[in-house]
Amino acid sequence: MRRYHLAVIPGDGIGPEVITESVQTLVSLAVAHGGFHFDIQQFDWGTERYLREGAMMPADGLTTLERGGFDGILLGSVGDPRVPDHITLWGLILPIRQAFDQYVNLRPLRLFPGVRSPLAGKHPKDIDIVCVRENTEGEYAGAGGRVHQGTEDEVAIQTTIFTHMGVERIVRYAFEYARQYGRKKVTSATKSNSMQYTMVFWDEIFRQVAAEYPDVAHEQQLIDSLAARFVAHPESLDVVVASNLFGDILTDLGAALSGSLGLAPSANLNPQRRYPSLFQAIHGSAPDIAGKGIANPLASIWSGQLMLDFLGEHEAAALLMRAIEEVLARGQVRTPDLGGTATTRQFGFAIQEQVQSQVAQ
Ligand code: NAD
Ligand code: MN
Repeated sequence: MRRYHLAVIPGDGIGPEVITESVQTLVSLAVAHGGFHFDIQQFDWGTERYLREGAMMPADGLTTLERGGFDGILLGSVGDPRVPDHITLWGLILPIRQAFDQYVNLRPLRLFPGVRSPLAGKHPKDIDIVCVRENTEGEYAGAGGRVHQGTEDEVAIQTTIFTHMGVERIVRYAFEYARQYGRKKVTSATKSNSMQYTMVFWDEIFRQVAAEYPDVAHEQQLIDSLAARFVAHPESLDVVVASNLFGDILTDLGAALSGSLGLAPSANLNPQRRYPSLFQAIHGSAPDIAGKGIANPLASIWSGQLMLDFLGEHEAAALLMRAIEEVLARGQVRTPDLGGTATTRQFGFAIQEQVQSQVAQ
């Protein structure tokens, strides 16, 4: 029996609601499958802790995660209207991504059969994009400062940092991913017309790496017109590699095009497995619907599926993916973001039931 040690951080807003369904799905899948088992350790890190103790996580939180022998981290979401967003994000998520060198943020975007895209005339075969987002540097490197704060002379500087190693490894990951998963093309999101240092550097490295993969087509496009292309011709996109900020924005757009922000998952990967990787929906804490029990848990459940894949549990991962597809295609149970009336619990339960019936077959 393979045993996996999971850290679960439900976090804020809808985080605890959706993560409950994700964990429940993984646990019942493991029981039904019979080949592996999850040991779960939960952490109450987040805004409530911040308000109580002045920090989102304990001072030794990163060490706890690193030394705890975790095979993966599942995270709900972080963010609360009572605390400025840069405090909550820099108090928990961004430090984990950087400290654990989770330099790949893998974000698949798919229109599932049975789900309606806001784009007229687009079908499941038209929207199937994998975004490979750089996750540790670029625009979110966290370098900068404010001086003369509160005076009329105030200056704010946020420095974008691109390193040769950082750009090369993310571009290489995109090409390797394309090769491994039989995808045909890698599109690089750039802005080298206005950012003449960082993005010209990005383009140069993209071309150098692309030359090593003659079997995979490549192209680059300026981020503004690429955003328009996501809407006008999503079927022309396959794998997209993007910097931290560009990838962040493009994937919320892609999630909306695939039917809901409540569907899109992500894997924050340290491909070398020196540190645990982290799996979470791409959406935030959705304060507008938090506590109502109507959030779509699929993005979190699919993130758990990405974790199964990363752990090497390919059979279980394929089974869960089929259950997600099946329940969406049937269309009987779905949350309000997808036009239905089901609760988070009912939608999660429908997936868990489908998993059980597939295993029984
Ligand atoms: P958001 O993703 O939380 O919400 C945007 C919209 O999408 C809202 O109308 C929300 O109701 C809807 N939505 C999101 N997830 C949904 C789901 N699972 N089911 C149904 N509807 C869903 O983005 P925001 O409003 O810009 O940010 C809210 C908070 O989340 C902020 O504090 C922000 O900093 C934080 N945030 C955190 C993360 C993260 O934890 N990784 C990511 C993005 C934003
Ligand atoms: Mn985002």
